[in-house]
Amino acid sequence: MGKVIGIDLGTTNSCVSVLVDGSPKVLPNKAGYKTTPSTVAISESGRRLVGQLAKRQAITNARHTIYAAKRLIGRKWGSPAVVHTMETSPYEIVQGPHEDVRVRMRDKTYSIPEISSMILQEMRLIAEEYLGEEVTQAVITVPAYFNDNQRQATKDAGKIAGLEVLRIINEPTAAALSYGYGKDLDQRVAIYDLGGGTFDISALEISEGVFDVLATGGDTFLGGEDFDARIMEWLTVEFAQEHGVDLRKDDMALQRLKDAAEKAKIELSSLSETEVSLPFIFTRETGETLHLQKKLNRATLDNIVADLVARTMKICKATLEEGNLNVGDIDEVILVGGMTRMPAVQKAVAAFFGREARKGVHPDEVVAIGAAIQALALTEDDVGVLLLDVTPHSLGIMVFGGGFEVIIERNSTVPTSQSHIFTTVRDNQTSVKILVMQGESDRAEENEVLGEFVLTGLRKAASGEVEIDVTFDISADGIVSVKALDLETGKAQSITVTATSGLTEEEISRMVAENQDYSVAVKKTDDEDGRREMIRRNIREIERLMPVVQEKLAGNSLGGDALARAQQALDAARNAVQSSSGAMLSSSAEALDRTLSVFRGIADRG
Ligand code: AMP
Repeated sequence: MGKVIGIDLGTTNSCVSVLVDGSPKVLPNKAGYKTTPSTVAISESGRRLVGQLAKRQAITNARHTIYAAKRLIGRKWGSPAVVHTMETSPYEIVQGPHEDVRVRMRDKTYSIPEISSMILQEMRLIAEEYLGEEVTQAVITVPAYFNDNQRQATKDAGKIAGLEVLRIINEPTAAALSYGYGKDLDQRVAIYDLGGGTFDISALEISEGVFDVLATGGDTFLGGEDFDARIMEWLTVEFAQEHGVDLRKDDMALQRLKDAAEKAKIELSSLSETEVSLPFIFTRETGETLHLQKKLNRATLDNIVADLVARTMKICKATLEEGNLNVGDIDEVILVGGMTRMPAVQKAVAAFFGREARKGVHPDEVVAIGAAIQALALTEDDVGVLLLDVTPHSLGIMVFGGGFEVIIERNSTVPTSQSHIFTTVRDNQTSVKILVMQGESDRAEENEVLGEFVLTGLRKAASGEVEIDVTFDISADGIVSVKALDLETGKAQSITVTATSGLTEEEISRMVAENQDYSVAVKKTDDEDGRREMIRRNIREIERLMPVVQEKLAGNSLGGDALARAQQALDAARNAVQSSSGAMLSSSAEALDRTLSVFRGIADRG
């Protein structure tokens, strides 16, 4: 079998890594750089350009050069993220046939997975050149905060690039893997990842080769591009004051400004002052040419981006709170992403966590390296690494009256499976529509629709009598599938949630108002009974997986401990279902959940 590569598909830059004889290598592109711009273009002569070549000609070919496509991947047409990108991008963004987003280069439109696939293909070529063999499998990273649609679309991009995507893993988790691999650690680490387009924060516990994500949070629309935009804005305002000309109306000027803004930002990470110089930036109708020449110092930069940095700290605070963690619980802070080279960012992180970030970690390379380590762990036994990731969003279904009933809470360890029982809401109701959603609002219409399906042929009965068991499964990729089962007839319907055309907010509101024929309601059960049932179900599932896990762990360094812990959890759970203690039920349910996740993780490995 050929080697499996790890790809960090970044907003601004991408990076590819592979393990050679157990040690991770970051592979340079033809030009000798270890990162490649995530930029693609079609030249005037119709040639497709990717990476450095595409970036180099972006100024003169701004309309047909696509950068930061990651901001659009898996997004729906009309969503705020798309609107925002349209306002700031010199390339054309158009509506696709499935309420999705397309971009135009020359006379052709491309889906975003197609654009991303061109970058992935480039990374694949870099690896093939280095290894001297064909590469067909990869692990690709995504921001932890990516939702199901965005993960699916990234997987699709891999497929288009001719790669079998063995696993999608979260960028911060990959960074932790890269930091902890081969070290005998017992630590809690925070990964602060500020890249070109996205911000992620994760807290993990690393112990005996198990990487357990405790909490994760982030913002898919906060990154270096926003810092660049602030500098562009500052420059254009200064220029307008001086010359009375708005440079934002001119595509070519805009692209030059963007490049200059990023360059100034990067320079100010090591210098206290820099000069932005853009000669011949504008020609008046009279033929007079104008030049932009402006000094920018670090203090001014820090000032105009202070609120962006503060936003990341606010997310850190909320994420730790959600994981029931204090800053004092964190033993090590790791910085990821090019933006963490900015001194103001480093200062804010150190102030928040009360400690300097770990030195010696290469912020542009750790994520790809982590992906390569996970690739190895998925294909070879006894790598001694087990990743327990979490789902970043709550998942559930819409219930009668437009409410949102959560089935899997956010920050639950994946892979996982959870069920709830629902009932019909009308007499003689023969079908139900399961509207699968992701989000944190208790109002369905405020969450994102992932998919829908209808379960028909229910027995005619009084409302509330027919029971439907809805089960959500999240794979280790964070990809969701849902099953609805008529408990009486055994009739089932299921979907693997794929990037759907989706419903608009109005459509959902209309369904809430009109479509009660299809609605389901939450079955009111005694909480303890429900919990007992869940524990019994999980015990059965662990028993079912036990032989597979035992086989996979035979001879593995993690094996003995994991099996002993599982046995303990099983014993405690069997006792708890017999007892009347609510506290015992809760604590054993938690231990059992964790065991089940570990078992699924192990059973899932290649
Ligand atoms: P990434 O997505 O991790 O490749 O991060 C790319 C972002 O980091 C871009 O917005 C870059 O402009 C930014 N960046 C790279 N190097 C530096 C630096 N030395 N100082 C500040 N920002 C940087």
